Amino acid sequence: MEDLAKKLFEKRWNFKNRGTIIIKLQNTEYDVLIIGGGITGAGIAREAAMRGLRVGLVEMQDFGAGTSSRSSKLAHGGLRYLAYGEINLVKEATTERNWMRAHIPHLIRPVPFMWVNWKDDTLNKKYIESSLQLYDSLSDDSQKFKNLKKYQWFSAEELHKLEPEIKDKIGEGGAVYYDNNVDDARLTIETLKEAVIRGADIISYCKVVEYITEKDKIIGVKCQDLENNKDFNIKSTLMVNATGIWSDDLIRNYPENVPKPLIRPTKGVHLIFKRKQIRNEHAVIVRSLSQERGFFVLPRGDFTIIGTTDTDFKGDLANPFCSKEDADDLINSVKYYFPNADIGYNNIIATYAGIRPLVKEIGKSERDISRKHLIFFNKHGLLSIAGGKLTTMRKMAEDLLEI
Ligand SMILES: Cc1cc2nc3c(=O)[nH]c(=O)nc-3n(C[C@H](O)[C@H](O)[C@H](O)COP(=O)(O)OP(=O)(O)OC[C@H]3O[C@@H](n4cnc5c(N)ncnc54)[C@H](O)[C@@H]3O)c2cc1C
Repeated sequence: MEDLAKKLFEKRWNFKNRGTIIIKLQNTEYDVLIIGGGITGAGIAREAAMRGLRVGLVEMQDFGAGTSSRSSKLAHGGLRYLAYGEINLVKEATTERNWMRAHIPHLIRPVPFMWVNWKDDTLNKKYIESSLQLYDSLSDDSQKFKNLKKYQWFSAEELHKLEPEIKDKIGEGGAVYYDNNVDDARLTIETLKEAVIRGADIISYCKVVEYITEKDKIIGVKCQDLENNKDFNIKSTLMVNATGIWSDDLIRNYPENVPKPLIRPTKGVHLIFKRKQIRNEHAVIVRSLSQERGFFVLPRGDFTIIGTTDTDFKGDLANPFCSKEDADDLINSVKYYFPNADIGYNNIIATYAGIRPLVKEIGKSERDISRKHLIFFNKHGLLSIAGGKLTTMRKMAEDLLEI
């Protein structure tokens, strides 16, 4: 503990020490070098450093500037994946969600979610209740860490009182269950800080531009320091490609069974309004009027975040944006379920868009693609990890290091 306290207060991880960190990166032979400082790379750096390995990490933008600051900001079990029969995935995510609540409570805020049986809905009370029974039991019944509360069913009258703005639309009633808000970018930074405290050397604005090989094995990388326009090399026994939507740029040889390209990038957008414009009390699941999918109306203090969407993306991966069509669909759908919502272009506080690093599955639509993570070696000794969720970052790191 004393040693940890010393590292915590003595190791200064800030831009003033950039030069020192780069010199350290150049002069150390690492056990693991991670390319990518989103949540996936951060989680691996933390886990590897906690296991006593010498760890380096390079990020070409700001930390979390890729997908890891553009999510729905939920530490959740992914209730909707139950409908696809992805029981293991949901069990894994609910277990990790509960782990986060127990271990990083300062970053996690439990939120009551409302799953309403709408008047025009095909999903009835029996379906909703059996899904939530399963959702609540998957990890809570067998694991040490628990969710805040189990779900509860409410009649239509009771639900009117809990969420008055949707009252004309309720069918049989609805259920309230629990997931969590998390600040995705802060989660990424805090995870990186934990790795730094445990000895990892981590730098931003350095881009990996080339692999250094010896007898066909990758033994290091050439980096471009984007702040000073200088190149430097880093050596490591193991190289990890955790570059999310940029993964295909970094993979040299795709092993058998791995799709080429690996990533199917799909875009999800969010709109932010003042909460008083919608007056939602809970996180409410609503349905898109133009597409066959659900999305959330999420309370976030004085604000409400609406989203998300799921559409194939071709464009600048670093700068996705919300189009008029994306915004129209979300606004019109929310107005249908919250008829008094005073929302439009004139009072949007902000919009943001993120690209999912989904592992390609041929013949599936955007929303049907699994959110599972995939880990594989290529013949040059490069370890790549793709897919997954913010919520499962700890388990992804554990799986990668124990492969
Ligand atoms: C709209 C949307 C909503 C979502 N909502 C949720 C949610 O509520 N809960 C949840 O659990 N998950 C959610 N997800 C999923 C989650 O956000 C992602 O799975 C996760 O952020 C991916 O993290 P990553 O580290 O793999 O990728 P990224 O965050 O993109 O990190 C990869 C990093 O690699 C860097 N990089 C790339 N090439 C190089 C190079 N050559 N050299 C150095 N660095 C490089 C990039 O700059 C980038 O920062 C959502 C995703 C989207 C798109």
